[in-house]
Amino acid sequence: MYPQLGLYIDGKWLRAEGRASEPVINPATEQPIADLWHATDEDLGAALEAAKRAFPLWRKVSPYERAKLLRKAADLLRERRDDIALTLTLEQGKILAESRGEVDAAADIIEWAADEGRRTYGRLIAGRTSDIRQMVIPEPVGPAAAFTPWNFPATTPARKIATALAAGCPIIIKAAEETPGTCIEIVKAFDEAGVPPGVLSLVFGKPAHVSETLIANPIIRKISFTGSVPVGKHLTRLAADGMKRVTMELGGHSPAIVFPDVDPAQAAKTLVGGKYRNAGQVCIAPSRFYVHSKIEDAFVSAFVSEARKLKLGDGVESSSTMGPMANPRRLEAMDGFMADSALGGETLLGGARTGNRGYFFEPTVIRNASESARLMREEPFGPIAPIAAFDDFDEVIAKANALPYGLAAYVFTSSTKTALAVSDEIESGMVAVNSLSMTLTETPMGGVKDSGQGYEGGVEGVEGYLNRKFVSLM
Ligand code: NAD
Repeated sequence: MYPQLGLYIDGKWLRAEGRASEPVINPATEQPIADLWHATDEDLGAALEAAKRAFPLWRKVSPYERAKLLRKAADLLRERRDDIALTLTLEQGKILAESRGEVDAAADIIEWAADEGRRTYGRLIAGRTSDIRQMVIPEPVGPAAAFTPWNFPATTPARKIATALAAGCPIIIKAAEETPGTCIEIVKAFDEAGVPPGVLSLVFGKPAHVSETLIANPIIRKISFTGSVPVGKHLTRLAADGMKRVTMELGGHSPAIVFPDVDPAQAAKTLVGGKYRNAGQVCIAPSRFYVHSKIEDAFVSAFVSEARKLKLGDGVESSSTMGPMANPRRLEAMDGFMADSALGGETLLGGARTGNRGYFFEPTVIRNASESARLMREEPFGPIAPIAAFDDFDEVIAKANALPYGLAAYVFTSSTKTALAVSDEIESGMVAVNSLSMTLTETPMGGVKDSGQGYEGGVEGVEGYLNRKFVSLM
């Protein structure tokens, strides 16, 4: 059921052959499910040389032909959706319904990139004399190196691969070692759709070594990373040495602000859905809840009652509505938030690990945690929800903007004036009002402040893989 793992370099699948390996662990059972081989330095060199050879050929394939190939890969993913979803759940932990949704979303992302690649237009600028034509021509930036995390093993690689390919750039991707099977299935779909050798390579290894090797190499012209802020800053520094373009999708600690003119029970129900999806391991998850004091009691009681309904269990069981955390590091992080001496407040639900195997942590609700608690300042990336009251617009905006993050923000209000005032004032790359709707394939995803650089998705996504060459013709 779980796919055979390997490296994909220059159009060939490579297996063990003396390479170092590490086990892939099922987070619901703590049992190993496969061995993953690491790329050697020779493998990385081969992937780089293959990308170099492929670039001049791939950039000349017309966007129309590239789009056909990408759409075929998307169709193959849709055909295999249930099998890939099972792989995803086995290695990452999220419930099957979420995994199926993620594979569908990955196919949509690839299809969007296919079409958007066909719309990479240039422009003409009027000359100062009638005999001059001035043109701005889009060109692919060159071979890209991409690094993807374990929380969305289908959509994150799909977005980076499809956007690079649509723009005419070869790409070498290092997917997360903890969740390799899903990315292998995605790469298989591109391979079977007919992507030429060297245009796409997939490697695994020690993350720091692979990223340092690829980023330092002059063949690579573009870096795309999704993950934590410290690693993102480190990779951006490495990229700066070669003046390489970066797209950085980093962490967040997203405020959800609930005003007194909405139904608190409805807002709580919606926000519980967002907070505990993938056991809270979602960069855009609402993660700090500021509720107007007039409705705080009603909101808290509805939030706790909705969170209490979650059924924690192995993601492959149809009865489970929340799976385990993806790795033991997240469990330790949750323990750390709970043990913080500055935490304060009242734990209304959960607060601890549960079960005697698997990385399970209870859905947790904490009321009135101290503003200086780590939980209120660091990205929780887990199922702990802090709820605090506010009275005043300026006060809540100041709290929302107080952290170095600026990825996503949520507002619940029936007033258009309030909604617009919040979206104007808030320091965030994305704002959703009265819903959790964001990061669709057709909308840009990106953060401000420490949350990142550049965008994925939307028309902005492809732009990250293009140079704009100015040509003046007399
Ligand atoms: P981490 O910071 O060590 O790793 C995050 C991701 O970056 C992993 O996929 C890892 O393989 C990769 N990585 C780490 N060092 C790297 C390097 N030098 N070069 C290239 N890739 C590297 O931590 P973690 O324990 O895996 O995750 C913890 C934190 O990461 C979370 O608290 C969260 O803040 C953040 N995170 C964010 C996202 C996101 O979608 N933005 C996804 C996963 C993790």
